[in-house]
Amino acid sequence: MTIRTRFAPSPTGFLHVGGARTALFNWLIARHHGGSFILRVEDTDTERSTKESTDQILDSMAWLGLDVDEGPFFQMDKLERYQTVAKDLVESGKAYNCYCSREELAAIREQQRSQGLKPRYDGTCRNRVKPPSGVNPVIRFKTPALGEVCVDDRIRGKVFFQNSELDDLVILRSDGVPTYNFSVVIDDTDMGITHVVRGDDHLNNTPRQLNIMEALGISYPEYAHVPMILGSDGARLSKRHGAVSVLAYKEAGYLPEAFLSYIIRLGWSHGDQEIFDLSELVQIFDLDHVNEAAASFDTDKLTWVNQQWIKRLSTERLVLELKRFLSVDGIETKDLMLLEKLVEIQRDRAQTFVEMVDKSRFVYQEPKQYAVKAAKKHMGHNALPVLESLMAMLGNLDEWTVDSTQFAVEEVAKQLNLKMGKVAQPLRVAITGDSASPGIGQTLLLLGQEKTLIRIKTAVQYVKGLEKIG
Ligand code: GLU
Repeated sequence: MTIRTRFAPSPTGFLHVGGARTALFNWLIARHHGGSFILRVEDTDTERSTKESTDQILDSMAWLGLDVDEGPFFQMDKLERYQTVAKDLVESGKAYNCYCSREELAAIREQQRSQGLKPRYDGTCRNRVKPPSGVNPVIRFKTPALGEVCVDDRIRGKVFFQNSELDDLVILRSDGVPTYNFSVVIDDTDMGITHVVRGDDHLNNTPRQLNIMEALGISYPEYAHVPMILGSDGARLSKRHGAVSVLAYKEAGYLPEAFLSYIIRLGWSHGDQEIFDLSELVQIFDLDHVNEAAASFDTDKLTWVNQQWIKRLSTERLVLELKRFLSVDGIETKDLMLLEKLVEIQRDRAQTFVEMVDKSRFVYQEPKQYAVKAAKKHMGHNALPVLESLMAMLGNLDEWTVDSTQFAVEEVAKQLNLKMGKVAQPLRVAITGDSASPGIGQTLLLLGQEKTLIRIKTAVQYVKGLEKIG
């Protein structure tokens, strides 16, 4: 049997963490078995579906590298097919036209509520003899009145549902657009899906889908309902917990490798292993190790995983990422050698690319102003002789390396009889705008001699200006 899985997002919003994990699980199952991964856009909620959401979902999947073998298919392109099957079901007596108006349905619900019953459709139109004229009916599925449905789930085991709890659901709206539970059955069947892996918020829908399949004489695919993802406070993951859209993580400086490596652990494990690459996951992922319990999303952990990936990826790859992130920040650069140096120096210091850009900006842009605290501490008038000596010493260097510049700074400290920090810190503030940067020799190397001297000169003027005021 060829394994065929699908990811079936509704384009009513961006791709979020939970959706990405569902897509990843399905993609891995297909790749592990040499099967096919299909993308189906479930756009039958015509009021809420948008092209932007579809584009966002496609962009997110492309960023994650989850390539599809077939699709994207759009359900709205297949309306005739759903209409035909729904009508066939009516003809064979397994579904029926329902003419009840909104008001009638509300009245039925109200009456049930007042009797303490669970609101559900009461089947009025099952036995309606004469259809009212001028009403465009919906089509309802005739759910068996008795018996139970067993969902044999790969993760949950057997879950039983009583038919008496399920009402006659609408499968086709009066405008000819199918509802989710109906179109999903037709599509999973037409597309030859062998494994349906989706969030367990859909578990309650599955018995309805199995009943429809039964009525159509279709054999079931295998089902796996994966646990929810919760925020660190135990509530369902939502915007309140920070970014939930996949692309927001991209923009925040996370690597796709890290994002995947982290989300695979939400509900699945392989011993204590924390870092996975996709090709390894294709080998080892299996549904048997998906937990039943909800997983919780932890941004700090994701950030840690990202840092591990920054440490382990090749310099070339990181250079490309840094270049892209700098460009988002308005800094265009073609100097790949400099970018390489930057990456080598910053890869152990930054957890995300946004942070790496923050720590690298000084190389490209003069500080607009000095950080207030740092200036107060290190740029008082005591800094003047330090900066002037540094300018002379660094200005005289013929060779600009980590060692030669470091040596020059040490020499200034010796001459002025100061501790190294009393020289290096004013220099750091002068050239980067703040008091934290890589080693002083590395910082000077990154900046180059010319820019260094210009910035020290600016700092000298700044300190002199202070003196005038003071
Ligand atoms: N369109 C559904 C959703 O986005 C997919 C459900 C399914 O995978 O069957 O939740």
